[in-house]
Amino acid sequence: MKILLFMLFLFTLPMAGRAEDNSLSEVRITAEGNTQFSLFAPENARSVKVRVYATANAKKAEKTIALKLRDGRWQTEVKGNLTGRYYTFSVNGMQECAGIFAKAVAVNGRRAYIADMRSTDPEGWAADKRPVVKNAVDHVIYELHHRDFSIDPSSGLTHGGKFLALTEPKAIAHLKRLGINAVHILPSFDYASIDETHLEENKYNWGYDPLNYNVPEGSYSTDPATPEVRIREFKQMVQALHAADIRVVLDVVYNHTFNTKESNFHLTYPGYFFRHRDDGSDSDGSGCGNETASEQPMMRQFMVESVRYWMDEYHIDGFRFDLMGIHDMETMRLIRAEADKVDPTILIYGEGWSAGTCAYPQDKLAMKATTYEMPGIAAFSDDMRDALRGPFSDDHKTAFLGGEKGHEESIKYGIAGCISHPQVDITRVNYSKRPFAAQPGQAIMYVSCHDDMCLVDRLRASVPELSDPNRRPRYKINTLIDLDLLAQTAVMTSQGIPFILSGEEMLRDKKGVHNSYCSPDSINRLDWTNLKRFPKVFDYYCGLIAMRKAHPAFRLADADLVRRHLEFLPAEDCVVAFRLKDLEGIDSWREIVVVLNSNRTARNVTIPDGWWTIVAQDGRINLSGLGVAHGPVATVPARSAMILQR
Ligand code: CA
Repeated sequence: MKILLFMLFLFTLPMAGRAEDNSLSEVRITAEGNTQFSLFAPENARSVKVRVYATANAKKAEKTIALKLRDGRWQTEVKGNLTGRYYTFSVNGMQECAGIFAKAVAVNGRRAYIADMRSTDPEGWAADKRPVVKNAVDHVIYELHHRDFSIDPSSGLTHGGKFLALTEPKAIAHLKRLGINAVHILPSFDYASIDETHLEENKYNWGYDPLNYNVPEGSYSTDPATPEVRIREFKQMVQALHAADIRVVLDVVYNHTFNTKESNFHLTYPGYFFRHRDDGSDSDGSGCGNETASEQPMMRQFMVESVRYWMDEYHIDGFRFDLMGIHDMETMRLIRAEADKVDPTILIYGEGWSAGTCAYPQDKLAMKATTYEMPGIAAFSDDMRDALRGPFSDDHKTAFLGGEKGHEESIKYGIAGCISHPQVDITRVNYSKRPFAAQPGQAIMYVSCHDDMCLVDRLRASVPELSDPNRRPRYKINTLIDLDLLAQTAVMTSQGIPFILSGEEMLRDKKGVHNSYCSPDSINRLDWTNLKRFPKVFDYYCGLIAMRKAHPAFRLADADLVRRHLEFLPAEDCVVAFRLKDLEGIDSWREIVVVLNSNRTARNVTIPDGWWTIVAQDGRINLSGLGVAHGPVATVPARSAMILQR
């Protein structure tokens, strides 16, 4: 009897539990082996139908079933386990669609598929563990596009442009040597613009055109026509990176859909998921034709559930929110709370801006300026980025790196992790009116990302000597490298969370293309032969990252610690100098001095008196020391960083 009761409990609880929790999940197999469909669609819909197909391309449905409204959801139960079948929903006779929460899809994502998700787990998946990263500031993020990274034969990788490339020992060895501990993958959910039935065309896209938010993209799998394959290969990728102690951050794009009228949101519940202007037209805060309405209860629930699903099903460790400034702060806080239930160290960050005006009160949006009101959520610091290399709006304008004075205060702000610091005069900082971060873990520090020019192209476009036809190529490449290393020294010695674009460590360029979102592989691909051509660059990046990881003084987790231990030193134009002091109990180095000099000649900086070990100088870095220096004056060569410790 006891056993019977227990069995009954086992079989009924999951069913009862799920039926009541109002999950947006649209298909499930009951304990009795039947298939339930449900859909969030208008209560006054004339008809809501599900069609079941035997194959991805079958013209005729095996079954067409009308759903009935019950407890606010349209639902039906079909006899038998339909795992392995395809299905679509149709509301009021509109075009068929995959629903909003498909977990597996046919090639090109227009039909959903009922997968046995457990059958997609690679061997050992149950034992897969999230790598331990104690504090947000302990991450070193590497932003990667699958094709950029592995499509060129010079990569030596077998699975060019595929999830599986990141399972290959050579790829893992490269990332491990570089020392990054989080790979941020550009959109890897199912997006619309690549025809998955014609992969031989080698079309390229970043993937900011969402189709199915909860399914991996087919073109990154070895077989997009077999729905389980992309799911399994995505998991294999996560598993391989986790085994190498590298976390996986997913770029999520809930702020807009590829198109509006043909989106799954519109086709299931017209109007509901999007924001509209007063005249009823679609608001376009994304610059892509629409913007979603995170404040709508079901859109909010959709985002929370989706993020939770990626954490649970795919073991994702962090999320980068595209145009986070389109979402409302309340939704972002709920997402943070949901992530905390799984693991409080899951990273959440985003772009604290929108691309156009949103049809929602500005003061409620998750903009960078109010990041401090969203604990545990970080925003990209364009303040630091632009102070280093120049503004987004004009590729040819330079800043600190080009030897232009007036950007020092913004760089100091970045070095402090965009928190309030007694020595940073916020009125002289480029964009922020007040410090946007309450804690250093709320600021992403970077000088380049996939957007606009990569660092090499930007330096070439904005620093006059690098485009001067009268300068010798040798001079230009050396100057380029000097400035590149100086830029990343600023990023890696800043408080906050450092972030680099994949390939910067091999001096990548994009042939000067500003927006390469659909440029061919020839523009976007990394040339791995650069590792041999510019070994100095890779060695320096490795050294910088190793230094940051070995020395907690560069990644203080608390704002008060930053204010206590970070002190800026007096310096002239185009020099930023600081020391990290009183580090007993925090770091094996008692004191650290960092000087960034972007002048075209050497500069003297006053440092505390006495002997110092030189860790970095003139484009070289060695944690055991390159030599010694004696205060109170340090001479820092032109366009270089110096790091001293004792
Ligand atoms: Ca796709």
